[in-house]
Amino acid sequence: MTEVTRYARLLEGELPSILAMSERCVNIDSGSYLADGVNAVISVWASPLEGLGFTVERVPLPGFGDQMTARLRLGGNGKRVLILGHADTVWPAGVAAEWPFRRDGDLITGPGVGDMKTNVVMALHVLKVLLAEKALSRLASVTVCIVPDEEIGSPGSRAWLEAESRNADICLTLEPCRPKGGLVIGRGAVGALYLTATGVTAHCGAAREKGASALAALAALVGPLEALGDPANGLSATVGILRGGEARQVVPGSAELHLDLRAPSDEAAEALLAQVQALIRDAPHDPRVTITARGGFTRPAFPTHEGTKALYALAEQFGAELGAPVHGVVSRGGSDGSFAARLGVPTLDGLGPITHDTCSKREVVEVSSIVPRAAILAGLLARAG
Ligand SMILES: [Zn+2]
Repeated sequence: MTEVTRYARLLEGELPSILAMSERCVNIDSGSYLADGVNAVISVWASPLEGLGFTVERVPLPGFGDQMTARLRLGGNGKRVLILGHADTVWPAGVAAEWPFRRDGDLITGPGVGDMKTNVVMALHVLKVLLAEKALSRLASVTVCIVPDEEIGSPGSRAWLEAESRNADICLTLEPCRPKGGLVIGRGAVGALYLTATGVTAHCGAAREKGASALAALAALVGPLEALGDPANGLSATVGILRGGEARQVVPGSAELHLDLRAPSDEAAEALLAQVQALIRDAPHDPRVTITARGGFTRPAFPTHEGTKALYALAEQFGAELGAPVHGVVSRGGSDGSFAARLGVPTLDGLGPITHDTCSKREVVEVSSIVPRAAILAGLLARAG
């Protein structure tokens, strides 16, 4: 029996408790804008952390839930470990009632079940088992950060997470494990641009020439913006929302366009953003329409550096010992792990249980993946000493 197979056996005994706590959290609506729900989920996690000896600090983020930092000083000469999780989901109020936690065979489902309520619950049980085993005494410290606004890109949490990352030697991020064991070893940059146009309203019949269509000005940008995408090189520009107008017979006086941007590196992101801005600036349109843009790249790229490769190699070894294979994935989606990775902190992401159809109403977690993925996390933490 190896170190991680022994952890797996201990964690097997925690599975009923993991599932029960996951159910409790999934059944609380905690969309990013539902501060009370986010805080209720954080409270479920804060008490076991305090029970394990962590010092828990909660700082309210205006308009959102709390930023929770739980610290445990272990006094060893080993690494300072940062674990990143989030309490928010993409779902609005009422979704937990219509789609509550449910288990069907090897699958559990419900809002945020794998992104990432079960994942944080799993990590808490890993810490409990490792501390009981005194397997962390060589570490200098473990810090767990729970983010309230991750699903909207962590705009209010970036500075806090970067400060915590600067005090960490490795970062383990609890985003869902991809189907068949995909761990995230790199990510692209993610951006969001919000365009607003203001024109002049007028009746289409009686005074068409007095009107200046805000909607027509933005609609003309959709094709050229999307044409900046270059899928072969990992670049995309996608208009997710275009809307405007008040009535059929009225020239639209206002309109908005939301643009999603993806790029494989920070340099490519900068170049893409410059092209987008030039296109918006130079686009021909009625001079009575004004277009303003706000936003930019909110998540930096997560480069795969040597430290990340070393963490991945360890996870690969543990996965082989557990009969739970892993493979490395470079994702086009962003996560809080990107903030740490960009600062050069070795970062491994996708350490939650195996999840399918993340952020859809078909989101499910493979129950049988929880114990092996927990054991991989346990091995990484124990070995970091
Ligand atoms: Zn997530």
